[in-house]
Amino acid sequence: MKIFNLADYLNDLKYLVNFDNGSYTPAGTAKVAEFFSEKFRAAGWHVERIGVGDAVGPCLKITNCPDDAYELLLLGHMDTVFPKGTAAQRPYKIDGNGIVTGVGVSDMKGCILLSYYALLELQSANKLNNTRICFLLNSDEEISSIYSRSLIEEIAKKCKYALVIEAARKNGDMVKLRSGVGHYKLTATGVAAHAGVNPQDGSSALNELAHWIIKLHQLSNYAIGTSVNVGIVNGGSAVNVVTDHATAEVDVRFRTLKEAARIEAAIQALTEQSFTAGGAKVTYEGGINRPVMLPSKETLELCDTISQFGKELNIDFNWVETGGGSDGNLTAALGIPTLDGMGPIGAGGHSTKEWLDTNSVEPRLKLQMRAIDYIVHSLK
Ligand SMILES: [Zn+2]
Repeated sequence: MKIFNLADYLNDLKYLVNFDNGSYTPAGTAKVAEFFSEKFRAAGWHVERIGVGDAVGPCLKITNCPDDAYELLLLGHMDTVFPKGTAAQRPYKIDGNGIVTGVGVSDMKGCILLSYYALLELQSANKLNNTRICFLLNSDEEISSIYSRSLIEEIAKKCKYALVIEAARKNGDMVKLRSGVGHYKLTATGVAAHAGVNPQDGSSALNELAHWIIKLHQLSNYAIGTSVNVGIVNGGSAVNVVTDHATAEVDVRFRTLKEAARIEAAIQALTEQSFTAGGAKVTYEGGINRPVMLPSKETLELCDTISQFGKELNIDFNWVETGGGSDGNLTAALGIPTLDGMGPIGAGGHSTKEWLDTNSVEPRLKLQMRAIDYIVHSLK
């Protein structure tokens, strides 16, 4: 029996896209959870709703067996980066070329929907008998999975392979490596003074921070995938005050632990001096919050097999490396072969231009089905 049809898919997608489900809109992510709970329960799957704190919505653990260990973990997230009110401003829209826009359309409500159909198609073709699959959805991925991380890691340890169902890139490519991510908060303190009367008695926290920003950006080495970016700076109370307090936030991306350590050591070294007369200083907190998603030998073998499936299905793509993090970073760091970008084609995530190509839904559905079928049967 054929379960999937594009009209139903788009109907469901329209429903899902037209409400807000930002990480800090728990009622919205709970609504996504409710939608998929009902669908999977109706198909006979076990669905467990797991709370990870009141600040964010629930996680869903969806399985096709009562066991506590799985051949495959599918990973997705039910939250978006968008605040309340965005869905009303930017409702579901489809153009003449089959491109859908809307909140979380490809990051990643349309992706979860695709995996739902992939699993149901396989189930109805009797291809999931005696298999063990766990489909885990969290509600805080866009805030670095700070609440669900331990749950993801606990479940991932019981899984042999992981597929992250984020959208494929706009050219169709999928992801085998994701950079590790670090996040630092800087606090600069100095001595306040009147900028006109006695500036020499002050020590500017902003001046100190400015030196830091230049030094930090110089630590980037794009050729090997290391980037350091000061994305937020705050400080100052009035234009005629030598300011005594300023803060900044720093995003760091790296592809090796050695690079992560180099950056951390450089930040530490910066704290040991002052660039500003009068001794303004900067202290920092933070560190690595997502390890590198590095492909292992098994991962690369799986890439080759899925590429072969792609050829058979006439789907063109490559496996690429990206600086963006996902929960695949967590599973890969546990030694679990992990691939990402298994969803439909879409891009523009985290922006008003987010889109999903509905022409890619059926081909990618077939590809994901082949990949799941292979992993749960041939890699046991
Ligand atoms: Zn995402």
